[in-house]
Amino acid sequence: MKILIVEDEKKVASFIKRGLEEDNYQVTLSHDGVDGFKRASSGEYDLIILDYMLPKKDGLTVLRELHDAGNKIPVLMLTAKSETEDVVSGLDAGADDYLVKPFAFAELQARVRALIRRGEQDRGAEIRFADLRLDPVNHKVWRGQTQIVLTAKEYNLLAYMVRNAGTVLTRANIADNCWEYPFETFTNIIDVYINYLRKKVDGKFPTKLIHTVRGQGYILKEG
Ligand code: CA
Repeated sequence: MKILIVEDEKKVASFIKRGLEEDNYQVTLSHDGVDGFKRASSGEYDLIILDYMLPKKDGLTVLRELHDAGNKIPVLMLTAKSETEDVVSGLDAGADDYLVKPFAFAELQARVRALIRRGEQDRGAEIRFADLRLDPVNHKVWRGQTQIVLTAKEYNLLAYMVRNAGTVLTRANIADNCWEYPFETFTNIIDVYINYLRKKVDGKFPTKLIHTVRGQGYILKEG
């Protein structure tokens, strides 16, 4: 997985680069909007982390030009609090995300993972976690060589968990992302669906992937 970081604050850029390299991403740095756009257009990256305030060309202009050129690469915009409104209005809600500086690295990691998985899904590529494989075109699921048959709802829930693997998901997060109607009142329907998924996904396999985080929600992780 290759990530391009376009950020003129060299300290911030190298901090992010180091952290992502520890997560085994290949990271390239660019320090201005013109160079950043040129590199981003090459098609060799899976994600761009793009600062808003950049020399030569600002981040939103770079983003617009990429969209105009039909480039569907997911973008994570970095913004100062005061710029957030401008940035959010420029994002493609389906493809992009933003992070307000200063941020915790764990938050950046979570966004990066989610955006890369979303990008893979949009390209129709399989989504993988541990020995779990999801085919986003035909909604088929395997663990290792064993196919797991899921209902449409169960598939959506599992795909959401895989896209956000390693992050604790609250019932509200799950409701927002996997159910069409809002969850005003507390309901145990999510727990019921998680139990269905558990039986099918973890049931007879020694390594459990779906875990309960007491008082918080659920997390997909190995062991
Ligand atoms: Ca900047």
